[in-house]
Amino acid sequence: MTTIKDVTVEDGAGDLPTIQLTARDFKGPVDPDWCAGCGDFGVLNSLQRACAELGLKPHEILIVSGIGCSSNLPGYFNANGMHTLHGRSLAVATGAKLANHDLNVIVTGGDGDGYGIGGNHFTHTARRNIDLAYIVMNNQIYGLTTGQISPTSSDGMKTKSTPFGSVERPVNPITSAIMNGATFVARGFSGDIRQLTGLMKAAIEHRGFALIDVFSPCVTFNHDNDHPFFKERVKKLEDEGHDTEDWKSACEKAMMWGDTIYTGLFFRTPDKPSLGAREPVLDQGPPLAHRPLGLSSEQAEKMIQRMM
Ligand code: SF4
Repeated sequence: MTTIKDVTVEDGAGDLPTIQLTARDFKGPVDPDWCAGCGDFGVLNSLQRACAELGLKPHEILIVSGIGCSSNLPGYFNANGMHTLHGRSLAVATGAKLANHDLNVIVTGGDGDGYGIGGNHFTHTARRNIDLAYIVMNNQIYGLTTGQISPTSSDGMKTKSTPFGSVERPVNPITSAIMNGATFVARGFSGDIRQLTGLMKAAIEHRGFALIDVFSPCVTFNHDNDHPFFKERVKKLEDEGHDTEDWKSACEKAMMWGDTIYTGLFFRTPDKPSLGAREPVLDQGPPLAHRPLGLSSEQAEKMIQRMM
């Protein structure tokens, strides 16, 4: 075994060596501009570890995000990345996955982006069971716009937009995803990198729509649901013998919000094939992106110009 800079190289059986990347190899060209202590650092760290431990290479990964503090993540990650429109990351990721189903497509963003602006896409991506790993950094507030209630803000929460307390009930992403047909539904906490890394590895390997809703505290604008709040309350489903194929039990546990708040894998079903697996054209050769278009370069150029 030899080490070249940050890359560990093992002698492989064939002519080419096997290259085992480390989490540091997934560090992007730009340092995060998140506030010191933001939970999103733990999520980024966990995702870099997960990709390294799965033996993935940067060119095998596409990270798609929407808009918000957490949606800046693709810029901080050494892989293909797309920073798209507010609430539209799942739609773009769906197109990318169907065009090149060899890619590991990971979608990242926040609760406002994913469950509010992009709520429609969240419902239908789960229903279609598109093979994507969706990681939502849920801080229960709009952080980038300096602190307004989001779809997951607690009832009664006082913010800039709700000075007398929110009168709305929060959405529950876990029960919503299960009811909409997602086939892998989990919750993590940015303060527990070991558990979160394991969940991310399983979500990336899952063939179907995988949601990980991550408690990722906004230290600047949400002083109700901070790190100590979650640290005191979170309990791991895996420590309690939870049956991950029992959707009713999963929903009951996901709705608990008090002295105990569960994290871990709530629900997984291997029986429902992803949309890609049910689409015969994808099985009949390489990914669509690598197939000839059947057009001359002039025709292709004309078509591109028309769409610009
Ligand atoms: Fe993180 Fe909140 Fe700062 Fe945004 S405003 S970077 S969510 S702590």
